[in-house]
Amino acid sequence: MADGRTGLVVALQANYCWVELDEPGPGDCRRLLCTRRTRLSKTGQTICVGDRVQVDGIDWAAARGAVAQRLPRHSLLQRPAVANVSRVVVVVSLAEPPLDPDQLTRFLITAEATGQPVLLVLSKADRLPQEIVALWCGRLRCWGYEPLVTSAQRGLGLEQLRAELGRPGIAVLCGPSGVGKSSLLNGLRPDLQLRVAAVSGRLQRGRHTTRHVELFAVAPGALLADTPGFNRPQLPGDPAALALLFPELRQRLGEARCLYADCLHLGEPGCAVGSDWDRYGLYSRCLADLQEEQAGFRRTGPGAIDAGRDDEAGLRRRGDRLEPRLAPAWRQPSRRRQRQRLSSPDLADSDHP
Ligand SMILES: [Zn+2]
Repeated sequence: MADGRTGLVVALQANYCWVELDEPGPGDCRRLLCTRRTRLSKTGQTICVGDRVQVDGIDWAAARGAVAQRLPRHSLLQRPAVANVSRVVVVVSLAEPPLDPDQLTRFLITAEATGQPVLLVLSKADRLPQEIVALWCGRLRCWGYEPLVTSAQRGLGLEQLRAELGRPGIAVLCGPSGVGKSSLLNGLRPDLQLRVAAVSGRLQRGRHTTRHVELFAVAPGALLADTPGFNRPQLPGDPAALALLFPELRQRLGEARCLYADCLHLGEPGCAVGSDWDRYGLYSRCLADLQEEQAGFRRTGPGAIDAGRDDEAGLRRRGDRLEPRLAPAWRQPSRRRQRQRLSSPDLADSDHP
């Protein structure tokens, strides 16, 4: 079509999407409000922010058009959906609300599932003594991450974050609500005028201030998607692939091979990984959650599952959650984790309920 153009989806709004054109049209028109051609949905092509698309039927005077085709994606962040992500920046706060290893692990898994580099940012470093911050950094290095410690209040780490976000491509900023993502962004680009999440008193849970995903330019060629704060990301996909979303496991599995190809690394005989690693408890819990989903449980909250009920997926009930059924000998917490718990009482321990 003569008026066909290519562009980038920068925001979604109800049934419309905003497309930023690669080349401006008449009257320097760069941004079009577009509908989606019905054949897109017929071929199962969903459109999300970050997608590169072909637009036709352009009405330049009204700055309107229609998305005719989605161009191939190189990556996808599942929730919130952002396509063609170049890196994922996971932000969690060290305090107010306190760092929760289980929640952080879920965000990291979602980020790792994109197959892109993941940057872990710790916010509100001013709220904790330096020794505790150092303990956290040490623990997170064992997870395979080199955390960037920041404080919007003290301007700590902001230069490094700015450099990281200024690299070409699409970066996605995600993390629980109330961790100060908006404050960090305001520190980087005051003109963005992002509303700062007010941490609500008793629950210390941030109010949702960022309601939808939108891409905005932070530097030439560098786009950032600030995502809505949500507190418990859904785990992506296949239980058998979960291990590869843990960098420390990925590394061990690159060095040694388990006896059985379908090893789930839950302490089975011949497992090259074993259970002597910090996130073993978190890993096994995430795995149990995924298996539970696969087994087709009704998921209307933890209370929806009958207490003490076993099932074919080899799960058993413990507290308000399900865990894989294992022989008792395999369930012993590792000596290393017991030591850690004794040596670092200040760190929130969520390995066991
Ligand atoms: Zn294994």
